[in-house]
Amino acid sequence: MFSPASFAEKLVAWFDKSQRDLRWRQAHNATDPYRILVSEVMLQQTTVAAVGPFYERFLNRFPNSNSLAEADEADVLTQWAGLGYYARARNLHKAAKAIQSEHGGIFPRELDEILALPGVGRYTAGAVASIAYNSRAPIVDANVARVLSRILPVEGDLKTSKNQAALWDAATQIVQVESVEPHTVNPAMMELGALICTPKNPRCPVCPVSDNCQAQKQNRQNELPFIPPKKAPTPMFDVCALAQDATGRILLRQRPNNADIWWQGMWELPRTTRSEGESSTEALIRLGQELGCAFVPQTRAITVKHGVTRYAIELECWRVQANQPAESETLKWIGTEEADNLAMPSVMRRLFERFAPNRTSSEQLSLL
Ligand code: SF4
Repeated sequence: MFSPASFAEKLVAWFDKSQRDLRWRQAHNATDPYRILVSEVMLQQTTVAAVGPFYERFLNRFPNSNSLAEADEADVLTQWAGLGYYARARNLHKAAKAIQSEHGGIFPRELDEILALPGVGRYTAGAVASIAYNSRAPIVDANVARVLSRILPVEGDLKTSKNQAALWDAATQIVQVESVEPHTVNPAMMELGALICTPKNPRCPVCPVSDNCQAQKQNRQNELPFIPPKKAPTPMFDVCALAQDATGRILLRQRPNNADIWWQGMWELPRTTRSEGESSTEALIRLGQELGCAFVPQTRAITVKHGVTRYAIELECWRVQANQPAESETLKWIGTEEADNLAMPSVMRRLFERFAPNRTSSEQLSLL
């Protein structure tokens, strides 16, 4: 029988002694809803270790929601570059604008107002409301879902609406326990999932809530939660054009601001996906025609592999001669310093740096 009070009290006692010293838990960040929102958005699909330096850099540049609201999107994307999933940065930017236009620049306090901000889902709204304002708002992220699926237990795919309802119901009961503070019990559940109740080989012998755990009692902690088999990524074969002028500047194209594509508005070496039966050189010639550049492929400079959403992409980078390199708003010759201020997907940033001028040979070799 699940006892929310017993679970919550033991968990908080453990958290008080064992929590990690994370940047977003430090005093100047800990109760600022904007800073909590930034950390929560960055931590979606990115690890704690990877987020740290980006979090500092982003907040140095945009220390509050008003400074973010007033920034150019290109500047926001540049500060985000390297974290991936750029829709998160765009939504954060939109959220800051909404705070400025709809709430007079003051971060909203009510859960439904936070939930109405662009890109903010139920988990993120609950995290901001509970951590910044100590509201009794529940949270269920991947860590919490795993912990609760073992505690209750929850059988089958956690994504089904029935199981989601069970998880949110349990999280609600836990955060309603009056003897614990929401700003502590919610992060404590996430911390337990990160440190003790890990996906593989949970550390049950040192778990503070093992007495409350049905999976542990049934010795099923390695069976739960049920993880449906993953689909294999779809292979994709792309080519990109490395065109350089006499001074070594590289031709970059700005991707369209089209909601249907990845990396909207970011800069890249012109690239395209090879269609079936199309060779790399044919694809490059077609790309040159589409851009009005008349590309003449020369040699393959390098091949890199990277993943985007469900695709496993093999990207061939070819040196090309660009015979009609007319510049436009979205097609420019870019030198090393200018590139520092452009938002570029990380794979393109690596390629650019690999071939950019003002690099020694050893620096270039170490970049890919
Ligand atoms: S006892 Fe084991 S499975 Fe249960 S919550 Fe603790 S670590 Fe997770």
